[in-house]
Amino acid sequence: MNDGEFEALRHRLLAVLERWRSPLGLNWWRLTYEYDRTGQDLRLPESGPSTIKTFVAAETTPDWKYLHATILFNMPKLQEADDEYMEYIVVHELMHVLLHETREGRSEDGWLHEERVATTLAHAFIWTRQAGATDAEDKAEHLDVPDLGFQELRMAANGATANASG
Ligand SMILES: [Zn+2]
Repeated sequence: MNDGEFEALRHRLLAVLERWRSPLGLNWWRLTYEYDRTGQDLRLPESGPSTIKTFVAAETTPDWKYLHATILFNMPKLQEADDEYMEYIVVHELMHVLLHETREGRSEDGWLHEERVATTLAHAFIWTRQAGATDAEDKAEHLDVPDLGFQELRMAANGATANASG
């Protein structure tokens, strides 16, 4: 990955992070982003005679007591990602920022539960946001906006003008 490719990918990633940071309530958190350009830091250890080397797309290390988290991104892995997959990776990692403290005091494989919850919630948030956007489009299309009384207000204002001038 050359410098230009790295910068382009980093900007693409930052745009997705910014899109989700606020809706997920993470503006109070200090998030540090780090980038692994070779992917070597994020290779899971081999655990058997014929294991496949697995590369994880990102790793989040929250310090929940101080609302600080570091997210390390595997850039070669993300380079292969389409927009949909990149969004999923980002939201999944942001779920870990919120969930990590529940891991404390758990058994050694407690992180597996955090993984499943992070995966489920990431899909749910993405789905909800898309469904909300579709709803808003539908409403705009059909002008199905609730009557908030503006009609009456406008009439009253017109009446007042008419009275004042007449
Ligand atoms: Zn995860």
